[in-house]
Amino acid sequence: MFPQVLPTYNRTDVAFVRGEGPYLFAEDGQRYLDFTAGIAVNAFGHANPRLVAALTAQAGKLWHTSNLFRVPGQEALAKRLCEVTFADTAFFTNSGVEACELAWKMARRYQYVSGHPERFRVVCFEGAFHGRTMAAIAAGGNPKYLEGFGPKVEGFDTIPPGDLKAVEAAIGPQTAAILIEPIQGEGGVRVMTPEYLRGLRKLCDQHGLLLIFDEVQCGMGRTGKLFAYEWTGITPDIMPIAKAIGGGFPVGACLATAEAAKGMTPGTHGTTYGGNPLAMAVAIEALTMVMEPDFLPHVGAIANYLQQQLGRLVADHPDVVAEIRGQGLLLGLKLKVPNTEFVTAARRMGLLVVGAGDNVVRLLPPLIITESHVREAMEKLSAAAQTFEAKSK
Ligand SMILES: *Cc1c(COP(=O)(O)O)cnc(C)c1O
Repeated sequence: MFPQVLPTYNRTDVAFVRGEGPYLFAEDGQRYLDFTAGIAVNAFGHANPRLVAALTAQAGKLWHTSNLFRVPGQEALAKRLCEVTFADTAFFTNSGVEACELAWKMARRYQYVSGHPERFRVVCFEGAFHGRTMAAIAAGGNPKYLEGFGPKVEGFDTIPPGDLKAVEAAIGPQTAAILIEPIQGEGGVRVMTPEYLRGLRKLCDQHGLLLIFDEVQCGMGRTGKLFAYEWTGITPDIMPIAKAIGGGFPVGACLATAEAAKGMTPGTHGTTYGGNPLAMAVAIEALTMVMEPDFLPHVGAIANYLQQQLGRLVADHPDVVAEIRGQGLLLGLKLKVPNTEFVTAARRMGLLVVGAGDNVVRLLPPLIITESHVREAMEKLSAAAQTFEAKSK
């Protein structure tokens, strides 16, 4: 269409001009119910008045000063994040992959300053996704994303998830950390059990490794808790977060315990834009909204309702939908028809959903949806499923 835009995406030929809550409006005036939410980013819907106000108020004052100086927004947000999580410290980035990059750099540095410079390897998992830099595609291990980009960055050992014996076998004298998404998003909405995650914690403690939870997608309220690790009874040492934390403004962060971060001394890491005043103003307002007493209970309740309704979708369309996966509002439909075709069929009905690995369609609605939005989505999903049944008859 426009070769001037590097064609690394198979883009859908729809352009949106405006958003309002969970709805998007295209150039042609068509309205869509957005269960993509910018891939788990727009947790508060589009054009949320409080986020707009936070951004515009800051925009009139100060955009950027660099990290050569104190940035009061960073100090306020880091303090809040540390109050409400396991973390003692936070570094702000512009994206998820930058937060992940710091996570594995920090793990290596921790081992280095702890007298173990030989420990630099990270145990990772099949189906994982950590972004698209050279190290992130090595950590993700997806052969499709690695192809043609030269030698894989050294030090990432990929094994199948779910089996603690396999993890133990993969840990060697050079291992520094274990890196996992508590719920694999892009890989196909695969939920790691609390027992398994607790097992990883134990292995890390036994072997002197750091546990890294990538909560870029599953964090910030999506599972009904602020962060998914809260379901497990254990805490990670390092946690990259991003996507929803800016509600649509690009922000990421790498959270860590003071111990895990002890190697990150002045000069060891940096960023020009990361943690700029605009991003901080929006992220502070976003965190304030998520922490309001009714917010997370609402996510839990509406997620239960959506999951119940989706159970009916499986029962009504057994030749199209195989099962429902996921937790909270990070949900997947494992399909018996090609997921790309289902995404198209749903869009024709006015519902936006997003594909994932393992022939799954992800439902990632804004966290602010209500029962009427769920009912509207169910009608559209059902209509989309019917188009496949009509075909097969
Ligand atoms: C999206 C995602 C990333 C990468 O985030 P970007 O902002 O695209 O760099 C990393 N990890 C997980 C789990 C993600 O879902």
